[in-house]
Amino acid sequence: MYDIAIIGAGPAGAGAGLFTAKAGKKTLVLDHGKSITAKAWVENHYGVDAIEGPALLETGHQQLKKFGAELKSEEVTDLFFKDGAYYEITTSEGSYQAEHILFATGMSVKAAEQLGIKTTDGTEPRVAKIIETDQHGRTSLPKAWAAGTVAGKSVHTIITAGHGAETAVNIISELNGKRYVDHDILKN
Ligand SMILES: Cc1cc2nc3c(=O)[nH]c(=O)nc-3n(C[C@H](O)[C@H](O)[C@H](O)COP(=O)(O)OP(=O)(O)OC[C@H]3O[C@@H](n4cnc5c(N)ncnc54)[C@H](O)[C@@H]3O)c2cc1C
Repeated sequence: MYDIAIIGAGPAGAGAGLFTAKAGKKTLVLDHGKSITAKAWVENHYGVDAIEGPALLETGHQQLKKFGAELKSEEVTDLFFKDGAYYEITTSEGSYQAEHILFATGMSVKAAEQLGIKTTDGTEPRVAKIIETDQHGRTSLPKAWAAGTVAGKSVHTIITAGHGAETAVNIISELNGKRYVDHDILKN
């Protein structure tokens, strides 16, 4: 049983997963390789002079793995909320169980709608539909969250990655029963 399964390893999903994994939460990240970020050339990401989208994605994936998250190249095809307690996730390759689930699926609400999560019209350019969330990233189902483009955030890497991180802090805080902060101190 994973503490959290994240669908999508673009900036939002990977941004969330590196926080949950670094916090010691058993983290599964599933992605079928259709990130819109793969087409981007990014010069407006704070702290990064300029970077190709694929390189930004690859760096994020390496960070995920460094902190112990499991990243799998699989498409999520089916989802169930079992016994009001955990999520059963079926992919092209197998099935997994997780207490919490985070949708970071970019332009697609398909997986969330398949689970019966409420969606609504998008307001950002070229984003047709998004998942309804509260200010913390909670969706209409318990222990199901959404972050980044699919949660209606402005379609920029710094914003979607930041929202993934923000939502992860909220999930970690709920799992821990108190507010979480992750601050490392300068080593020398
Ligand atoms: C041409 C182009 C240029 C851009 N230029 C810039 C720029 O200069 N600066 C900037 O800030 N932003 C730019 N962007 C926008 C930026 O790429 C997005 O804002 C941001 O990356 C979106 O992040 P995300 O994680 O929400 O979505 P994505 O990066 O799209 O990630 C979503 C992930 O979910 C996965 N997924 C979805 N459904 C499933 C499923 N059922 N099973 C498994 N995986 C699933 C997909 O494979 C995908 O990898 C550009 C975008 C494009 C298209």
